[in-house]
Amino acid sequence: MSTIKKVAVIGAGTMGNGIAHVFAQNGYDVTLIDISDSALERALATVKKNLDRMIGKGTITEDVKSETIGRLRTHTSLKAGVENADLVVEAATENEKIKLDIFRQLDELTKPEAILATNTSSISITKIAAVTKRADKVIGMHFMNPVPVMQLVEIIRGYNTSDEVTKLIMETSKTLGKVPVEVNDVPGFVANRILMPMINEAIITLNTGVAGVEEIDTVMKLGMAHPMGPLQLADFIGLDVCLSIMRVLFDGLGETKYAPSPLLVNMVTAGDLGVKSGRGFYSWGHGTKDLIVAPRFKK
Ligand code: NAD
Repeated sequence: MSTIKKVAVIGAGTMGNGIAHVFAQNGYDVTLIDISDSALERALATVKKNLDRMIGKGTITEDVKSETIGRLRTHTSLKAGVENADLVVEAATENEKIKLDIFRQLDELTKPEAILATNTSSISITKIAAVTKRADKVIGMHFMNPVPVMQLVEIIRGYNTSDEVTKLIMETSKTLGKVPVEVNDVPGFVANRILMPMINEAIITLNTGVAGVEEIDTVMKLGMAHPMGPLQLADFIGLDVCLSIMRVLFDGLGETKYAPSPLLVNMVTAGDLGVKSGRGFYSWGHGTKDLIVAPRFKK
């Protein structure tokens, strides 16, 4: 199997800009694709800001910044962006219909030997692979947020992903300075199979009056050495995202222990989504520096 030189990243949101950044910084030619021009502009600005921060910390030089930016192109046309790619990493909106549609097109538009990876948090790799004629070359590359900082990449083998492709993607992840971990295609994979039920249990613990928001987060921070408590983390991830992953676990694994907390369902229905809506378990209207418990959960 040929080595990977040209990479296309689809979706220039939170994850896409970080994925494009780490590939470009590590010598790959990268094309970042989005349907929205403004998303591409924001992504480039974020990459530049993150590179500047690294220069400020002394971890990279000005030359590395200009080389990284020099290897990064943007496109709104899927066809033009992917036709020469050796590897495509899809990081578009977490919506099954959108992803299946993108993979159907990628199968037509890319070289037959190109590897098609997805950064999905919860959609079955096997299901995505099934809409292509190259299921052996479809794989999950689940980067963590923020991508330039977090070391882990969960590498998810679909039912038909080949050993050769898995090995190449594991090796490629190492060239990005990441630690890849190989897992199988079961709902939630490993990261969200364990993380989301913990967050859901924290919400159940709150809702059944065992303790308040600050108490629950403090127990997990100081007692378990977690960098932030589960309720704060839920606010950062987005309560809508947490709910949708719990539903994937519940539907896919069929056990009541994965049933989403009614409080989580109500908060999402009411539009309290965490940082992105300004309110979740904490109030975020003032920014993300200070932790202020949302009025509803104040004692
Ligand atoms: P986001 O909403 O920030 O960005 C998604 C981008 O995809 C948007 O810019 C949107 O315009 C673009 N898009 C939508 N349809 C498209 C199409 N057909 N073609 C090209 N671009 C399209 O989303 P995100 O948080 O970056 O998540 C992207 C993926 O990464 C999802 O699958 C998500 O589950 C996964 N993920 C997210 C996180 C996280 O913490 N945010 C962590 C790990 C994995």
